Amino acid sequence: MIIDHHNHIWVGEQAGGFLDEGMSVERILREMDVAGVDMAGVCTVAQAINNDYVVEAQNAHPDRLFGFCMINPRLPDAGATLRHYLDKGLKGLKLHPRLHGYQLGDHALLDPLIAICGEYGVPVFSHGGSEENDHPFYFEELARSFPKVRFLLGHMCALNFCDDAIRVAQRNGNIYLDTSTAELFSVKAAIKQVGADRIVMSTDWPGNDFRMELLKIQIAADGNEDVFGKIAGENIRRIMNL
Ligand SMILES: [Zn+2]
Repeated sequence: MIIDHHNHIWVGEQAGGFLDEGMSVERILREMDVAGVDMAGVCTVAQAINNDYVVEAQNAHPDRLFGFCMINPRLPDAGATLRHYLDKGLKGLKLHPRLHGYQLGDHALLDPLIAICGEYGVPVFSHGGSEENDHPFYFEELARSFPKVRFLLGHMCALNFCDDAIRVAQRNGNIYLDTSTAELFSVKAAIKQVGADRIVMSTDWPGNDFRMELLKIQIAADGNEDVFGKIAGENIRRIMNL
């Protein structure tokens, strides 16, 4: 089963930017079919939070889509909002420290949300990039404070901090690396140094095409079906209880 955990859907709006063109449920399903992707994790974009659309998508296609709840922890009632959407069936927390203006290592801001994820037994998935807001060491900081919660490290903190992302994944069994944006070279290094059990397929659709990500993983797996199967679906199926 091919499962990709990191993608975005939204309703188009005339905002004069990339959000103008909607990325609908129908559209992602069509592209999943073209590439042979069985299931996809979806969340809203940080720029225009609409968790209700994600709930609708998951309810309409529970065999194809599972949703993460995007939370801006700086907004009032962040904890109550997270509980509300987890109660509605969303399967994890999504964070975007850079776009929402905080640091992932901010315990006062994030500990209450992570504790809720621990209570519900769902993973924490955060954007990880080349900026200070979401450096791999912050993921490690949280992962060590909440050893029972699983953390999905978005983009493997590509491009600048892949080496540090690999390092913290080596040191912490509850950190998983996601493949989007990461160069083939980094995915190969992660397989070698962390192992295929803690790497998960991520296209970050519509930023990329499912076929490209699958090809990248295929090449990185270098003919090893077991490695390919784990990264392209088995690991996230286990993490999300799909
Ligand atoms: Zn993304």
